[in-house]
Amino acid sequence: MGCERFLDAPFICACGQRHHAPTQAIVVADDALDRLADVISRLGARRVAVVADVRTQAVAGAAAGAQVARVGCAVQAVVLPDRNGRTPVCDEPTKCALAAVVGEADVLVAAGSGVVNDLTKWLAFERERPYIVVATAASMNGYTAANVAPTINGVKMLVRARAPLALFAVPDVILNAPYAMTTAGLGDVIAKPVSAADWRLNSLVVGEHFCPLCAGIINDIEPLYLDHPEHIRACDRTAVMALLDALLYSGLAMTLIGSSAPASGGEHLFSHTLDMMSALDGVPHDLHGRQVGVGTIIAARIYEHIMAIDTPRVHMPPADIDVQFWGPLAPAVRAAYQAKQAHLVRFAEMLRQPDQWQQVKAAIAPHLRSSRAIADCLAQAGAACTAVDIGCDLARVRQAVLHMHEIRARTTIVDLAWLLGVLPDAADVLI
Ligand SMILES: [Zn+2]
Ligand SMILES: [Zn+2]
Repeated sequence: MGCERFLDAPFICACGQRHHAPTQAIVVADDALDRLADVISRLGARRVAVVADVRTQAVAGAAAGAQVARVGCAVQAVVLPDRNGRTPVCDEPTKCALAAVVGEADVLVAAGSGVVNDLTKWLAFERERPYIVVATAASMNGYTAANVAPTINGVKMLVRARAPLALFAVPDVILNAPYAMTTAGLGDVIAKPVSAADWRLNSLVVGEHFCPLCAGIINDIEPLYLDHPEHIRACDRTAVMALLDALLYSGLAMTLIGSSAPASGGEHLFSHTLDMMSALDGVPHDLHGRQVGVGTIIAARIYEHIMAIDTPRVHMPPADIDVQFWGPLAPAVRAAYQAKQAHLVRFAEMLRQPDQWQQVKAAIAPHLRSSRAIADCLAQAGAACTAVDIGCDLARVRQAVLHMHEIRARTTIVDLAWLLGVLPDAADVLI
């Protein structure tokens, strides 16, 4: 791991901001859980809750609990139950249920990835207690992030929380995680260049602060998996650990800058929209990162269409959301959509200035990766790269593509696509 240099060491960045990641230790080692016990001991904790689900309890929760007990702490093992035969979800009712079960713990330890990590981080933040994570899969970039992405009243939200005090991972546990989870991690991290392009776009058009360090934080690691997806498929230790490293860096970038901008652009909206459609119609959705990978192919294709436009013609997007489509979620979605209207006007002004448009294109070009390279990488790694892979038919993907710009207040490449008429006109070509 190389991200130690950013840990708990505030610094003034070349971007002009002071950055600080409060995480004190990242330990990826065979004896990582011994080190967990040392940290717990140093904290002087007396009561520790170790939160897992039924799967991660078996591979990490029980072992973490045993190590914590070894240093004299009272350990409360909390195993989140599955819901309707599927994994737990990160929403308000589940967080409240967890809060009711977790007593007066001094420290909360999450033993798990996505939902387990998010719920524990969220509760620890509310209780103002330290939180530590034992990672169980290279499946997402949220471990080192300071935010969680719960579903609240059916809407995917971003809630500020706190980055972990420390992260521990045992390589064999990561390597033996279900392969679909590793490919989800690849999908989540392959989004990074597209997110960075969206971030640069916003900085140029609406003045969002942009940090080149956080935008390019995984550039050096990227070739390890992007150029050799077959190594991921073979579960090669070096490749999977590089993937985990990239995910940890990606989360750190969000913590350093204090927003999800470095690692979540238009491609993430595709996944969030599928999750919200699932809340509406009950059709199951796939893992976040698997959907994000497919969303990244779509976003990269949108960029290719847009970069080919030399003389833009502005089409103002619809003034309101598709109320019928969103049903009970419409009020929350509308609030997000309305919040960015002023920025859409600013984007339209930029497009009407041919010189500005050329400058914007030149500035975002270095961040872009070809949709073909992204799709090939995902396919060769055995990750999700088609609609079928994520359990959707083309009609469902089309619905997600045509509604994903409505759910977020922050502008992305998807909004630019609507302003340029690429959407909805080229939706079928894109899909
Ligand atoms: Zn993500
Ligand atoms: Zn910076």
